[in-house]
Amino acid sequence: MSLEDENHKWVYTYGAGKAEGDRTMRNLLGGKGLGLHDMCSIGVPVPPGFTITTEVCTYYYDHNKQYPKRLQGDIQAGMKHIETIVGKKFGDEADPLLVSVRSGARVSMPGMMDTILNLGLNDKTVVGLHTKTGNERFAYDSYRRFIQMFGDIVMGVPHADFEKVLQGVKDKAGVKQDPELTTEHLKEVITGYKKLITEKKGHEFPQDVQEQLQQAIHAVFGSWNNPRAITYRNINDIPHTWGTAVNIVAMVFGNMGDTSATGVAFTRNPATGEKVFFGEYLVNAQGEDVVAGIRTPQQISNAGKEAQHSDLPSMEESMPQMYKELNEVREKLEKHNRDMQDIEFTIQEGKLYLLQCRNGKRTAKAAVKIAVDLYNEGIIDKDQALCLVDPNAINQLLHRQIDPKAKKTILSRGLNASPGAACGTIVFTAEDAENKAKDGPVILLREETSPDDINGMHVAKGVITARGGMTSHAAVVARGMGAPCITGCGEMVINFEKKTVSFGKTDLKEGDWISMSGDSGEIYLGKVDTIEPQISGDFETIMKWADETRRLHIEANAETPKDAQQARDFGAQGIGLVRTEHMFFDPKRIVSIRKMILADTDEEKKNALAELLPYQTSDFEELFKIMDGFPVTIRLLDPPLHEFLPKTDKDIKELAQEINVTEELIRKRIVTLHELNPMLGNRGCRLCISRPEITEMQGKAIFTAAMNAAKKGVKVYPQIMIPLAVSKKEIQILKDILDKEKAALEKANNVEIPYVFGTMIELPRACLRSAELAEIAHFFSFGTNDLTQTTLGISRDDFSFRDCYKDNGIFDSDPFAVIDEEGVGELIKMSVSRGKSVQKELRTGICGEHGGEPKSIQFADAIGMDYVSCSPFRIPIARLAAAQAAVQNKKK
Ligand code: ADP
Ligand code: MG
Ligand code: MG
Repeated sequence: MSLEDENHKWVYTYGAGKAEGDRTMRNLLGGKGLGLHDMCSIGVPVPPGFTITTEVCTYYYDHNKQYPKRLQGDIQAGMKHIETIVGKKFGDEADPLLVSVRSGARVSMPGMMDTILNLGLNDKTVVGLHTKTGNERFAYDSYRRFIQMFGDIVMGVPHADFEKVLQGVKDKAGVKQDPELTTEHLKEVITGYKKLITEKKGHEFPQDVQEQLQQAIHAVFGSWNNPRAITYRNINDIPHTWGTAVNIVAMVFGNMGDTSATGVAFTRNPATGEKVFFGEYLVNAQGEDVVAGIRTPQQISNAGKEAQHSDLPSMEESMPQMYKELNEVREKLEKHNRDMQDIEFTIQEGKLYLLQCRNGKRTAKAAVKIAVDLYNEGIIDKDQALCLVDPNAINQLLHRQIDPKAKKTILSRGLNASPGAACGTIVFTAEDAENKAKDGPVILLREETSPDDINGMHVAKGVITARGGMTSHAAVVARGMGAPCITGCGEMVINFEKKTVSFGKTDLKEGDWISMSGDSGEIYLGKVDTIEPQISGDFETIMKWADETRRLHIEANAETPKDAQQARDFGAQGIGLVRTEHMFFDPKRIVSIRKMILADTDEEKKNALAELLPYQTSDFEELFKIMDGFPVTIRLLDPPLHEFLPKTDKDIKELAQEINVTEELIRKRIVTLHELNPMLGNRGCRLCISRPEITEMQGKAIFTAAMNAAKKGVKVYPQIMIPLAVSKKEIQILKDILDKEKAALEKANNVEIPYVFGTMIELPRACLRSAELAEIAHFFSFGTNDLTQTTLGISRDDFSFRDCYKDNGIFDSDPFAVIDEEGVGELIKMSVSRGKSVQKELRTGICGEHGGEPKSIQFADAIGMDYVSCSPFRIPIARLAAAQAAVQNKKK
């Protein structure tokens, strides 16, 4: 239906067991809206409300900040819907309906956008709320909270100014905690707040409830484009075009006394994945009090209480009936959503309401445990289990851990909020983190973090906070980023002015080294040794299922024995790309290659290459041994020769002395070899053709190595590929050179050396001419880095307008990270099909950076490629992503 259509639906209502929205409507309702509609329709208690769709947000930004015409009427109808179910009227002075106005995008963006509670209160309705509930303190507490939120979020008066007013009243009254304030104090706070707003804004806080509602909705749509939300989307690759929905929800109150409460919980432990009801709540509190760290929250379950070493009574102990009901909701939601849930709830005078549910963010360790457990509990099948683990997140499991054998001095302990180990120097502000991270690893120490710290958290190797629990901002954000995090380290006392910190008896200052383990929650003095991770336990189970499910082969980009071994350990099925030039940069070898470049006569060239031959031969032999039984795909020399020449005067001088030539000669060669656009210059197969002696040497090295390894009983599968080709002629010339070397060796040694010949596809012409290339190439390895550069005409190193292009919605994601399916992808598809039209058995794969990126792997699987090749640490990620691709593509 067109957006201009008369009957276009901008608003969806839910309540009293019926919902207009359903679970297929995530894009329209946003995650929070979807959860509310869905919970309502399966009989979980939620306060009634309605959702203004994300389409309104995108309409607003697309139409010069105008709302759709009929929206007003639809909002009024939505309010009527709530009034009917609740039996109260918005703005009624005797018994007012209050609502919250809540943001909610397609994917959760924790704390990045705004929510306003208790809307509908003014000087008159607050009296009605008091008389109706008989609870004066509650009424005025709600009112002062509302003015504060509205003043901050809608009117733009800084939060800190309100805090000052509040603190002033507290000081005067001589109290420390908010709950100690009497009604009279609260009234004083309200007067102070109102005065503050008038002073700062020149007009009064609005008493008209309709005006409050309009302005609040407007502010929430506006919060989609606040700077921290934009930053968050850029970091997390969330398109700016999605927009947020706005949810209007009837208020329920957790601050009505001791039988009321509010809380947040995970249906399982989000750090470890254990099946423990895990969460925190506060009696007589509202909304964000739990996460804001104002009071120390209590644990929901006894198990959680034990795990967190809490001395306060759990909900299971102090509100057993409520606990029972909540626990039933927990099971219902997990079964219904087939995943671990993150829920927000409020208890109003003994009655439970759910305010939010969504799939919970979790550590990678928790993700694999939950997936395996849910399968074992019969809630999901293997395919679903595989899809519950985010391939990018398992990076965390591949990261270093504190060496259990390392000597360490424990400084302090906090909650193990996000796993992994880190060492770094201490910083105390997000800004300092950003500045200092350029010079080396930093660890960010805060009282607690707020959304403004997001950039600093991103560059820090780890985050430690003094306050907050497992659900605090720091914990949630760090888990999402895969950075280690420790929260609630009460012993840590920071002096922000002096930039010092004390952990009990130990005092440290900015720039001092510490280490941390987000797995144990321990903080150590100085740099502590860390160790490589291992694939075991539930992780191993998931990887086994992934290998049973995936169709794609996973190979590695590796040239050093260390990388090759790592790749094998992580399950690589061969090497898809050996970049031979990487073997030249060793100080001993670079001299030989420089000699070759500087040589004048053929004789000199041959001699220099003869020096390189033994190095290359033994390197290749080593790789064949490590990859025993698997293919090793070697790319002939790729970069332009000037990359090997010295750059500084000092280096030129040294080289001249070392190989006994004049500095002038070197300088002359640098000038001759200089290229205006080296990316498009004499490199790849062009170089191999114009300097055939290099190709001869490499061919000889590869075949000799294969022969030697085979003699020692290794199963060798050498593959040679030609970089940057655009025609059959080019690869034919090089194949002839290689074949000649091979024949000579075979004859001299009376052996047979089989090898597979193929080409890289990195240029649009190669895609166009794929049919002729496939006449002699047995595999196509797509070098998607260069293919992206040459198809888009954008140099990866000069992509300074990347963010600008993302912000303008030109690219949803960076085409150098995620394959550009519409452009580069089309060329690849064409190339594969043209190649296969000539050679049915043509083997195809990706060896660019994209080969380890889940969305690009999905693409490779969808178009029927045979393999992807990526860096060793991405091998497990690629194995899992390939399995998910197989599951997804099977469904299609
Ligand atoms: P966020 O996206 O930041 O979590 P929410 O819209 O979920 O923001 O609101 C934050 C908190 O405010 C909720 O967890 C809940 O405790 C409280 N809240 C929101 N709406 C209501 C409501 N209608 N009644 C009571 N509490 C509410
Ligand atoms: Mg919420
Ligand atoms: Mg290339």
